[in-house]
This record gives sequence, structure tokens and C-alpha cells, in this order.
Amino acid sequence: MSVVERQEWDVVVVGAGGAGLRAAIEARERGARTAVICKSLFGKAHTVMAEGGIAAAMANANENDTWQVHFRDTMRGGKFLNQWRMAELHAQEAPDRVWELETWGALFDRTGDGRISQRNFGGHEYPRLAHVGDRTGLELIRTLQQKTVALQQEDFAATGDYESRLKVFQECTVTRVLKDGDRVSGVFGYERESGRFFVLEAPAVVIATGGIGKSFKVTSNSWEYTGDGHALALLAGAPLLNMEFVQFHPTGMVWPPSVKGILVTESVRGDGGVLRNSDGKRFMFDYIPDVFKEKYAETEDEADRWYEDPDHNRRPPELLPRDEVARAINTEVKEGRGSPHGGVFLDVSTRMPAEVIKRRLPSMYHQFKELADVDITAEAMEVGPTCHYVMGGIAVDSDSAAARGVPGLYAAGEVAGGMHGSNRLGGNSLSDLLVFGRRAGWHAAEYARGSAGARPAVDDAQVDAAAQEALRPFSVTGENPYTLHQELQRTMNDLVGIIRRQGEMEQALETLAELRARAARAGVEGHRQFNPGWHLALDLRNMLLVSECVARAALERTESRGGHTREDFPGMDRAWRRVNLLCALAGDAVALSRETTAPIRPDLLALFEKEELVKYLAEEELYA
Ligand code: FAD
Repeated sequence: MSVVERQEWDVVVVGAGGAGLRAAIEARERGARTAVICKSLFGKAHTVMAEGGIAAAMANANENDTWQVHFRDTMRGGKFLNQWRMAELHAQEAPDRVWELETWGALFDRTGDGRISQRNFGGHEYPRLAHVGDRTGLELIRTLQQKTVALQQEDFAATGDYESRLKVFQECTVTRVLKDGDRVSGVFGYERESGRFFVLEAPAVVIATGGIGKSFKVTSNSWEYTGDGHALALLAGAPLLNMEFVQFHPTGMVWPPSVKGILVTESVRGDGGVLRNSDGKRFMFDYIPDVFKEKYAETEDEADRWYEDPDHNRRPPELLPRDEVARAINTEVKEGRGSPHGGVFLDVSTRMPAEVIKRRLPSMYHQFKELADVDITAEAMEVGPTCHYVMGGIAVDSDSAAARGVPGLYAAGEVAGGMHGSNRLGGNSLSDLLVFGRRAGWHAAEYARGSAGARPAVDDAQVDAAAQEALRPFSVTGENPYTLHQELQRTMNDLVGIIRRQGEMEQALETLAELRARAARAGVEGHRQFNPGWHLALDLRNMLLVSECVARAALERTESRGGHTREDFPGMDRAWRRVNLLCALAGDAVALSRETTAPIRPDLLALFEKEELVKYLAEEELYA
């Protein structure tokens, strides 16, 4: 049996991004002794990179905004596949979560009369994103860290130990959720620096590990996004929901190659930036789909007037939901109207004075200046689609964030599925992770309290098996983890990317099966002290599993909806709106099943015009 250090906690949160920290704060405030684990340094989570803002109907910039309008926009953006109860809770609770951040010390940009400023973003009817320049995620994480430290100081005053009730384990990777029968009993992981194994025993585990972007070659995501939480849940017996929906953000950098995929925030378009092709044409006017026709301007004049007078003009089509804009850019490039490096032009230089650009978009100004030697106050940026976000994720209960089928397991943030349907609106992730991070922490703490009399036991055999699994790369040879990763990224990018075809996805599944077999021989040299090759060899298991789920579900869904575009099935099919695709593990294999979505509550349906519902809902739903 392996000798592994063990500690006992009430709640363990895997991930210290926005979702994980918000969950941990809530669990600790509700009396649970809470441990947080993160792969990177504390505070370096992906949330830090969020630029544009947090979507919340606070009505600071337009008094007509309400949670109902936000709910409507979110459902439209997700093409009505959203888990509607999540979308409802999210729209209702997001403003409180933003105000709460302010009481914890967040310093948002202000309106002229001193309220939290809100900016426009794609798919949002009113200016709705609370922001801090284009560095909102940094302020969000800073605030949650500050709150964490404040709670630790309270604990020190009460117990003499800062970490008695809330402790962060940084630079540690969890590789397995442990179970006692059906229910969760803790997690197994390793310290990245020393390679030492550890077990945290707990009746409740919250997974908040973010997304999967590192399975794709061109991505805005950081090294941490290897789909670990998705895989941990699958391996623990919890299904993943609608994994075919991957968001390709329309505007990533395309040049130079070393920075390809890095995000160009949607705020650039929200603040007035326009997209042009190589003929200088604002091409988005040609790509307004029927379902959105009434809401978007038909001429440049009307679109430009909207920035000053949104109540009497329709929105510019550059602010259509991301899936629409990404597909439009893809078509322009494919048809030969792209920019020199394979993107299109995004221009603010002719739209705003240089000092306004530098004030409102400081990160973008520096990003282009330093990485591409482009001055965005004087010339257009070149941009193209980049893998950005996964809408699919762990299937959860809408109210409690409990993962389906595994008592004691919870999930929040990007790793959880359902909230965004087939396509996420910008700004809705930061609000999602605050709303459902809190809910996950709250319910995990209650569950842990309920288990206090009968804590689950950690099974030594599972710990042993987890240790053996983690050590395997040191005892096999024949394959290089870096080569396998590159092949995986190329496969997903080229064959299961922004535009999908049956034959290519079948080919991808064959390649993924081969890569999985080869990954069993992915060996590393050296020892366990900080060994990035070893870490990647372990992450490969997760990326391969999750990629297979994406490819299988994408092949199964024979329609185009939101982030999932089938060249062979270009239309949205109303019959598919009622279908969720679930991935689970049957032995080693990924098994796919279908379930019917829950009918949308009538009072929520009543928020939409009947003519609009006809575009989305199946006959039987309309009739009901
Ligand atoms: P993260 O913040 O990524 O945190 C994940 C945590 O899990 C990390 O601490 C990581 O170390 C840890 N982890 C992962 N695997 C393991 C493991 N095996 N063991 C232990 N720890 C693990 N959304 C918006 O709403 N508005 C925006 O303006 C916006 N801008 C964005 C800009 C960029 C450049 C990008 C890339 C995304 C943006 N998004 C935005 C999306 C949003 O930032 C993310 O969806 C969100 O931050 C995810 O938060 P999270 O808490 O779920 O995950």
C-alpha cells in the first residue's frame, strides 16, 4: 500500500478560479471546514484573464433592464437549449453577486452619477456588463482572495490558526475523486513541486476546474484548461451534458503565430469596433440570421446611431451572439476576403480617439503593441475564431449544483453544463460562476453537515490504485506526451472544430482511439520533483476522454445550433431542442445516451412573443 499523507475536511473545492473561490467562501461561511486545491499559484486561475465584465441586470446604464430581459437574452443566445431553471436563477441572482463583490472591496468603473458602470456586449439587449476597464477578472479574483484572507484572519482570532477552517493548497493537481460506495469520500492528488501524493478526505467535493480548451490547437485558454474536472466527474460516475457545444470566440489574434488564439475581447466591438473584410466592407450586415432579424440594424447609419440612442435604433450586427460572428468570419476567410494572415479586420482606430481607446481598452492596446507590434489606435487588428469556452459540462441539479448520480459531488463554473445551452453570451460566465459557485458551496456545506454522523470512509485500495495510475508514466516507454498532445490538438482543431462534417468526426474518433492506446505508453524520464512531462502525461488522460465526448456528441447531433455547426446539417431542427446528449463511462468506453429536456415553465415562456417561440420550440411544446 502507498504511504500517502491524509487530512480530513468537510468540503473540498477543486479549483481556485472564480467558481471555486466563491464556493469555498460560501462553504466556510456556512460553517464547513473547507479546503481549496488549485493546479497553479493561488490567484493565477483562468478567471484572471476575463476582460469584458460580469453580466447582471442592475439597470444602471438603462433603466429598462430587468432579470427577465437578461433571462430572455440568455435563452436566445443558447438557442433555447439552456437548462432554463439555471438561466432563471442566474438572471435573478447576478446583480446581488455583483453588489456583494463591491461590499467585499471590488472597485468597478463608475457611471457619471457614481453607480457601477455597465457596458454593451454581444447578445445583451441593454448595457449589462459590470467591468473594471478590460481587466474585470483580475479584480474579481483579487476581491475573492481578499475575502478569503479576511475569513482566515477571523479564524486566526478564534482558533490561533489561519488555516483551521479555510485552507488553500496551491500547485497541487487532483487526479481522482474517491468514493465510498456511491458517495464521495475525498480526493487524491499530487503536489506539483515535490511530486508527493496526498488524500483529502471529505464527504463533499465541489469541482470548479474550468474548461477544456487545451485539447484544441488554436485557443484563448491557458495551460490549466485540460478538462480535468470533466474527466474526474466521468471517472467518478457522473455524466457530462451536451459536450458537443464548444464556443469558438470570433476574435482571437491571428498573427504572429506564437500568439495565435489569444483573445481580443468582445468589449472592442461593444465599445464601437467594427469588422471589415479585405474589400473594406462591414460584412456582418450580410449574416444576420432570421431569428435575430428584428433586433439588428440593417444599415451602417442605424447601427452607428445605436451607440448614442439605443432606445430608438437597432443594434449593430457585430454584436450578434458569438457563434454567429465566428461563422461569418470563417466564411469571409474561406471565400477569399480575409486579411493577410487569415483573419478579418477589427477596427477601433477610425471609431474612437486614441486616448479613449487607451482608457477603455488598455489591455488590448498593450497586447497588440507588445505581441504584434500593432498600434490599435492607428490601424486595424487582424482577428479570427479561437476555441474559447465549453458550454457542455457536468450534468448538475439547477438549484443545488449537485452532480447527477454521485451523492456529495457538486460542480460550478465553466466545468458545469446546462446554464448556457448551445452558446454562452459574453459576460455570462463571470456571473454564472458567482451565482452557482455560491450555490455549490452552500449545498456542499449542508450536505457535509448532514453526513457528520456517518462520514464516508476512504478505501485504501482506491488510494493505491490512484497512486499506481499516477506513477505509470515512469514505468512505460514508447510515446512522447508532448507529441501526443500536439496530435490531439490538431485532430480536434481540424476535424471537430468550428465547422463539422460526419466523415471528419468519424476520422477524429478513430484517431482519438489510437491516441488513447498510445497514451498508455506515454513515458517520462526523471523523477517526481517538478516534472512538466509527467504532469502532461497525466493530463492527457483527461483531454483524451473529454475530446472523445465532444466528438461523439457532435457526431450524434444532426443539426446546427449555437456552438455546434454541421456543414451536412446546416439548419436548426426544432425536434433537437428537446434533446440533451449525455456522456457516461461504461467500463473504459464513452457511452452516449439521450434524454428529453424538461418543459420550460409557462410563466417563463410567457416572457417571449409567440412568433419567436415558433422558431425554436417543437409543435408539441407549442401546443402544450
Ligand atoms: P478557472 O478560473 O479557470 O479556475 C479553474 C481552477 O481549477 C484553477 O484554479 C485551476 O488551477 C484549477 N484546476 C484545474 N484542474 C485542476 C486539477 N486537476 N486539480 C486541481 N486544480 C485544478 N467570461 C465572462 O463572463 N466575461 C469576460 O469578460 C470573459 N473574458 C474572458 C477572457 C479570456 C481571455 C478568457 C480565456 C475567458 C474569458 N471569459 C469571460 C470566460 C471566463 O473567464 C471563464 O469561463 C471563467 O473564468 C471560468 O472560471 P472557473 O472558476 O470555472 O475556472
